[in-house]
Amino acid sequence: MSSQSKMDTFESSGSPSVRVVTSVDALPGSSNDSEPSTVAASTDEDMVFEPDPDPRCLMCPGTSKISCQKCNAVRYCSLECKDLDATAHSIVCEQWDDCQDRPEPTFRRAIYFPDEVLDDIAYTIRLMWLDFWICKDEDGKMNQVPQFGQQFGHITMKDRRRHVVKNSAVLFRKLRHPLVIARCKRHTWSHLAYNAVNRILDTRFIPEWRGPIVVYAAESIESIEASSFIPVDMDLQDFRHALDFLNTYRSNAVHTDIRCFAETVHGVRINCIGDTDDDDVIFENVRLPLTHAIFTTQQVLPIPGLMGIPILCHHYPRRPEGDDDDPDDYEHNWEYRDLAQTWLAMPDGSFVHYDNAGYVAGSVVLARKDGKPLFAKHVHMLWNYIRNELEPRMTEAFKMTGFSIVSPSNIFNSLTTREAFEVFYANTVDLYYPNDLEDWRRPWPYAVKRRYGSLKRTSPPPTPQQRAKYEWISEGEIED
Ligand SMILES: [Zn+2]
Ligand SMILES: [Zn+2]
Repeated sequence: MSSQSKMDTFESSGSPSVRVVTSVDALPGSSNDSEPSTVAASTDEDMVFEPDPDPRCLMCPGTSKISCQKCNAVRYCSLECKDLDATAHSIVCEQWDDCQDRPEPTFRRAIYFPDEVLDDIAYTIRLMWLDFWICKDEDGKMNQVPQFGQQFGHITMKDRRRHVVKNSAVLFRKLRHPLVIARCKRHTWSHLAYNAVNRILDTRFIPEWRGPIVVYAAESIESIEASSFIPVDMDLQDFRHALDFLNTYRSNAVHTDIRCFAETVHGVRINCIGDTDDDDVIFENVRLPLTHAIFTTQQVLPIPGLMGIPILCHHYPRRPEGDDDDPDDYEHNWEYRDLAQTWLAMPDGSFVHYDNAGYVAGSVVLARKDGKPLFAKHVHMLWNYIRNELEPRMTEAFKMTGFSIVSPSNIFNSLTTREAFEVFYANTVDLYYPNDLEDWRRPWPYAVKRRYGSLKRTSPPPTPQQRAKYEWISEGEIED
């Protein structure tokens, strides 16, 4: 992916309207910043805003110095960061004044993403008041339960899902209060590029989100875990955090594609054949932020898992396309079958003959569960092993035995071992990379040693000095 994509993600719109902090020192956390304001101090009382408990920029780790002049509810370090947020923020900024009067004491401010985009105002993303009723749960605990009815219409309770978001997916820092993203399971899956949610997300990476989605805020993570939910008002900063979650969760975006301030690890993206042009790479070295959902879903690839290579997999559908909205056609589109990931990701490790194969469309990102670097060439060799060693043997076995789906286990077991794969790797690597004798000597993941420590998420994020300790010792490793 080119760095161009990063710029495409958040186009700025309109001329910036900026409120300047005339007294930077008044902001908590900014006492070390002696840089004077570049704009002459104004006598207008409105130009000074109240110190905010969170003085940081909404879009980057910087200290905030300006805010949106219209709503005064979001803060940025610079015009650049403000512009990055402009397209999304303008949607809710205009509604901010109209969403100040609480209808009843039980209502809390939330944000609603409708199912579709229509001209009608009812189908735009909007701030709303969500009613919470005090209910007794099964254990007799008193809980505050959101009343969705109107938003989710006919969707029954069992079709609802929720994600609890504690940390910013992009900024790698804890949110002031956790967010709950409530959605309908049935309505989430969509490769329609033009629904209300995808309208402001980057659909090159996120073909999945649709609507209706309601985002609301909780007082604390404890109140969620203890099932004694205490809702609080969402603010406009939360809108950006919710977008960042939607933009990165179940996403194929890597750190060069999105705003990313998290630590990264080496991973591999297998691009969907149907989504790539002829000269595009299929196996691609990428760096994955530690906030990537692959590290929370922990889905180990079946065949590498059997071999004792703990490779995590994150699957996503192929690129959204036009108004083709037939999910059956979408799942089993032969034209877009992707053998690279089908062979790796075949569930339960069984093999089927070509004629019976249910190919998987779309792409995957892969990373090692233990955080060690994973390189495209290693995955490519694994794929070659499955394609050229496992698959033909299994197909042959089917024919001989007449089994239709699962192959005879003795052959399968003898071939799906790490030892068998390592022999194949050693014997055939120069067959696959005959003109690339140096590059394939990149570290075989098993041989890579870390100095000490681990790349597991830490809180707070490591300092640059600490980070240096986590660098890989891996002769020949090439930085992307
Ligand atoms: Zn910033
Ligand atoms: Zn605003």
